[in-house]
Amino acid sequence: MRIPILAGNWKMFKTIAEAKKFAEAMPVQGDRVEAIICAPYTMLPALSEALSGKNIALGAQNIHWAEEGAFTGEISPLMLQELGVKYAIIGHSERRAYFGETDETVNQRLHAALKHGIVPIVCVGEDLEQREANQTKEVVKVQMEAAMKDVSSEQMVTMVIAYEPIWAIGTGKTSSAEEAGEVIGFIRQLIADQYDQNIANQVRIQYGGSVKPDNIAGFMLQSDIDGALVGGASLQPDSFLALLKGAEQ
Ligand code: 13P
Repeated sequence: MRIPILAGNWKMFKTIAEAKKFAEAMPVQGDRVEAIICAPYTMLPALSEALSGKNIALGAQNIHWAEEGAFTGEISPLMLQELGVKYAIIGHSERRAYFGETDETVNQRLHAALKHGIVPIVCVGEDLEQREANQTKEVVKVQMEAAMKDVSSEQMVTMVIAYEPIWAIGTGKTSSAEEAGEVIGFIRQLIADQYDQNIANQVRIQYGGSVKPDNIAGFMLQSDIDGALVGGASLQPDSFLALLKGAEQ
């Protein structure tokens, strides 16, 4: 049984004061859904404290591959570990599009996360042009194969994959639940091909892209979809709580 996983990606939103206010509004969560907030680096220490005892895990939005070094502007796995960070988003399409993230650096970053006990949430997904050219599966296959390079079976079962079609991010357009379910089923098959069906059955795969409290239930009904990675709708406490409720089924 895969426990659903609902992660808020706050992107570059909120001050420390706003993050604390959000955390204060959070009741203690149950165990039916794993709840995560992936916040900007600046507020991770304050959030770590404010969320303690609430059963909401802390995530970062990126992670560097080296433990330390001359990498101006980057944050290392050791630094995240020190703050109690349990998850790191890796290869988000915004990082790929605006900050030169490649399949190779995604693989390097996820190995560093795994080495330090931080669970990677690896993002894959096609853009509009690729979708219209019917290349979705091809694009996702290339991204997945690069991401899984040198990842052992033991490591693979701990990873989280997020399928986020780029054209659905922040646009209000979503993939239909059936289409998302089909691509996510395809991703699970890729994992089965590279490892085996038993491994593939254990990996949690999320959908992301304009998920809201009023559409999450449809995605959760798809047997291969194990939760969501949510941007805009994760920013307000009421909405985040409604998403968690919606992810319960
Ligand atoms: P939205 O939910 O705002 O579309 O963002 C999705 C996303 O990019 C999550 O990582």
